Formats: sequence, structure tokens, C-alpha cells
Amino acid sequence: MPRTLITGGAGFLGSHLCDRLIAEGHEVLCMDNLITGSTDNVAHLFERDDERFKFIQHDVTNFIHVSGDLDYVLHFASPASPADYLRLPIQTLKVGALGTHKALGLAKAKGARLLLASTSEVYGDPLVHPQPEDYWGNVNPIGMRGVYDEAKRFAEAITMAYQRYHSVETRIVRIFNTYGPRMRIDDGRALPTFMSQALRGEPLTVYGDGSQTRSFCYVDDLVEGIYRLLLSDENEPVNIGNTQEITIKEFAEEIIDLTDSKSTITYEELPKDDPQVREPDITKARETLGWSPTVDRRDGLRKTLDYFREAIDVSAPADA
Ligand code: NAD
Ligand code: UDP
Repeated sequence: MPRTLITGGAGFLGSHLCDRLIAEGHEVLCMDNLITGSTDNVAHLFERDDERFKFIQHDVTNFIHVSGDLDYVLHFASPASPADYLRLPIQTLKVGALGTHKALGLAKAKGARLLLASTSEVYGDPLVHPQPEDYWGNVNPIGMRGVYDEAKRFAEAITMAYQRYHSVETRIVRIFNTYGPRMRIDDGRALPTFMSQALRGEPLTVYGDGSQTRSFCYVDDLVEGIYRLLLSDENEPVNIGNTQEITIKEFAEEIIDLTDSKSTITYEELPKDDPQVREPDITKARETLGWSPTVDRRDGLRKTLDYFREAIDVSAPADA
């Protein structure tokens, strides 16, 4: 039975990976300091009373102790929403730098394969579109987003250094905007914000004129791509994301339509360094992993909406 540590395992993506690896027969150690995640995301795994799932509360910027063997380390710990990393800039830099160093040190000590959760943000506000893996990016190191972008760029650099100089087996996934159940309803990202606003009948807050684009991937597709990458021989970064590009204004309209909401759209100031365009070039994932996304955005949004309806009911004040 493979034994796997997932840092950030109580977060949105980490919890879906816990599910997938348990389903694949792994023993899963889920490690998290709960700074942006919640044990609610893995409560169903506790309830199974399965010896194969354990939760360890720990800040991975400190030395990570795990007793026994490990086959895989999936390093997903990091604030991921721009609102989160703007509020937690030092923690974001530390987990990308020190946390990745600790996770690699653990993988080296155990002879485990490490998979790093990197991001499309390594491309910054890209001057090449769509973005292939060999594009080096356009990042403002001292901008507000620099704390996240540079931490992830450092994380990729140290991961490649451990691969080259310590012969640690490593994989790097560059994740593009992903959505689905278990996103925190107030995490500030476009989808949770728009869905909550639409369901509450409040105006949707589009930043700038809404002409900036993103390409949204449903979480099940992402998890499939990550699982394939984990088992593959590809040791350089691979983009995983959906190629259906949409403007943020159209995305807001789509959510209003899908929720049957009477909400309108209001326009607010565009945050500095907000990427103008984003779409993955997934040729490499197609060719090396045989992977491509299968979930159409409207179908994925419907599944996510069920989760948000429930989450918003629960979080509504009693007298609302
Ligand atoms: P999330 O905030 O839901 O999950 C991150 C988890 O990491 C949380 O549970 C948090 O408590 C934990 N964490 C943060 N710092 C930690 C520390 N020092 N020690 C231990 N745990 C810590 O975010 P997510 O969307 O699930 O993102 C997970 C990973 O995927 C991140 O590394 C993120 O950069 C990457 N990613 C996500 C997306 C996306 O669209 N969701 C896109 C690109 C990259
Ligand atoms: N955005 C918006 N309104 C919001 C939240 C986000 O218009 O309430 C925009 C944001 O400026 C960006 C896009 O939606 O252009 C996607 O933002 P998100 O925070 O989801 O992630 P990003 O892709 O910027 O990391």
C-alpha cells in the first residue's frame, strides 16, 4: 500500500487529492495548519474510521517529522486566493520557500517522490498567450502578487535543484484556475464571490471592466491530471488547466444566468498586476499524460452551485 503525505491536505484541492488517493488504495497523511483550510473538508474521511487516513496539524515551514516510510509527498500547502495571500504575505513567502525546503528534505530522507503544486502565476501577467511551459513569465517581484508568484518560482527552482543535486524524484504541476465544491465561500476568488453574491441577490463585483480573461478547470479534471503526472516519468513542469477562456464579465453573467439570480454587476477598481489574460497551452499534458479536460464549464458550475447553495444556507445568520 503506497503511503502518501499531502501538505495543505485540508484545503480545497488537498482534500480532493486525499479522496482520490484513498480511493486508489493509499494510506494518506493529511498535514495542515488550517490557516486557510478546514477539517470540515476531510471530515467525511475521519468518519469512515479508516486506518488509512490520518490528520496531522502542523505548520510545514517548521521541520516535518513523519515516522515510518513514505512513497509520495504532495506539497500543496500555501494560501492560494489573491485575497488570502495579500492578507498573509509573509506566511505565503515562508510556505513557498521554507515549507517547500522542508517537504523536499523529508522526501529526500524517505526516498519519496515529491509533487509540487505550482501555479499559472509563475507566468505573471503573460506576454505570450496561451502560456506554454517554456515561457518564463512576466512577474513583478515587488508587486502585491509578488509574494505568491516569487514564492512559487522559488519553490520550482529548489525543487529542480533537489532533483538535479540530490536525485530526489520530483514532479511539478502548474495549476491554472480551478474550481469546485469545498472552495471557501468567502475566499475572495472570482467564483466563490460571484456565486455567493448571485445566491444572495447582491451585485456581482467585477474588477476593472471585466475584459481580463481566465480559463476555469473543474476540480475532478485537475485531480485526474495530477494523478497521472504523479505516476508519470515527466520531471519538468506540466500545465494542467482548462482551455475554455472566458472574460470575467462573461463569467459573472454566466453565473447570474445559472443561478437564475436578479443580481446586477457593479464595477470596482482592478487590483494592480492583475493578469490580463490566462489560458494554458496543454499540449505537453496531452502528449505526455494523455490528459485533457472533460468537464464542460456549465456542467462543472452546476455541480459547484449545489455545494454553494448548501454552504450559504448554513452560513446565513439565523434571523436572515
Ligand atoms: P487552499 O487555501 O484551500 O488550501 C491550502 C491549504 O494549505 C490550506 O488548507 C491551508 O491551511 C494550508 N496551509 C497553508 N500554509 C500552511 C503551512 N505553513 N503549513 C501547513 N499547511 C498550510 O487553496 P487551494 O486552492 O486548495 O490551493 C492548494 C495549492 O494549489 C496551493 O499550493 C496553491 O498555490 C495551488 N494552486 C491552486 C490553484 C487553484 O485554482 N485552486 C491554482 C494554482 C495553484
Ligand atoms: N475578480 C473580480 N471580482 C471579484 C474577484 C475577482 O472581478 O470579486 C477578478 C480578478 O480581478 C481576476 C479574476 O476575477 O481578474 C480572477 O480572480 P481570482 O481571484 O479568482 O484569481 P486569479 O486568477 O486572479 O488568481
